[in-house]
Amino acid sequence: MKKQLLDKFEEMYGSAEGAEVYFAPGRVNLIGEHTDYNGGHVFPCALTLGTYAAVKRRDDDLLRFFSMNFENVGVIESSLSDLKPYEEAGWTNYPKGVMWAFEQRGMKIPNGMDIVLFGNIPNGSGLSSSASLEVLTGFILRDLFGFDVTNQDLALIGQFSENQFNGCNCGIMDQFASAMGKKDHAIFLDTASLEFEYAPLVLDGMKIVVTNSKVKHSLVDSAYNDRRNSCERALKDLQTVCGIHSLGELNEAEFEQAKNSIKDPDDRLKAKHAVYENQRTLKAVEALKANDLTTFGQLMNASHVSLRDDYEVSCEEIDTLVDAAWKVDGVVGSRITGGGFGGCTVSIVKDEAVETFKAALSQAYKKAYDKEPEFYVVEAGDGPYKL
Ligand code: ADP
Ligand code: MG
Repeated sequence: MKKQLLDKFEEMYGSAEGAEVYFAPGRVNLIGEHTDYNGGHVFPCALTLGTYAAVKRRDDDLLRFFSMNFENVGVIESSLSDLKPYEEAGWTNYPKGVMWAFEQRGMKIPNGMDIVLFGNIPNGSGLSSSASLEVLTGFILRDLFGFDVTNQDLALIGQFSENQFNGCNCGIMDQFASAMGKKDHAIFLDTASLEFEYAPLVLDGMKIVVTNSKVKHSLVDSAYNDRRNSCERALKDLQTVCGIHSLGELNEAEFEQAKNSIKDPDDRLKAKHAVYENQRTLKAVEALKANDLTTFGQLMNASHVSLRDDYEVSCEEIDTLVDAAWKVDGVVGSRITGGGFGGCTVSIVKDEAVETFKAALSQAYKKAYDKEPEFYVVEAGDGPYKL
């Protein structure tokens, strides 16, 4: 991979002498969906898939970007004196946003850079290629210029830039999982306090299989904001009867007792998901620690039902894949993962059932939509590093 990036760097910019190569991972969330902006818990792991960059610092303040995933748009130029989002800047608004966020925090970037990127994670599928690109950029800036920031800061800076520069109101999970990833571990994160714990993800005789529906519905951003607004209204209503700061503070019984204070029935359903999903996440981590994968899988399945029926962020294509997975012997659990309305499912599948699983899902998907899903057997990997 290193050689491929350096070769491309040389081809694009003349010489790769002095260029360094870096990596930051994408992530898959095992359980705890749409809880990260509700003060709840999430349980993602970083992947060994992610985004690579070859980078060399320049003597001036020019920025040159090239992505092997977007070859057709060629080299996009910008400058450190013009760190503003432009529509025509396309994907470079992500790394530029991170540079802007560093400067917002008083870390002036002294030199421009030439950059070549390559990602082996599908874009826009809910595996957080955008967060991996943000964390990668922050990691590069720290390494090249010696800024005093922790990996956790890289996550916060990435989220800040995606919120403020790229206009996507995401929670902290994606960037945190990418920046703090640890091989063979999932990250149990309390998004209210950022306290976290690594849980060993040793799945004896099982694999984590991500299935890409290759569907991305156009309503994603507005629907996402609607869900956030529902949860905020529900919280305000609940605060008239109980002293909470976020939905994540309630357990199921407390929610049931207080839920009639939520005026709008749809807001009530959305809040129910946030509360119950958070509790499922707590239980899932306990189950994993006790090596009780059966319970873990059942909680994943219940998470899907709640995301489908209460939170309403699934879609027909994803439900087809999950329904087909549930029917396969040897599937421990299967659910939608990521923001929703398309993207991927995550399943835990016994080794001997992986091939049957792929065949069954391919067949069901082909029959319903005349297209093939894509499968990735994934492993929990480390956070960002230099190659
Ligand atoms: P997700 O984060 O789920 O993959 P997003 O829509 O949030 O989906 O982010 C995808 C966007 O991130 C891409 O459209 C592109 O702008 C940017 N991006 C991710 N990976 C790369 C890459 N390797 N090269 C260039 N841009 C990338
Ligand atoms: Mg993203």
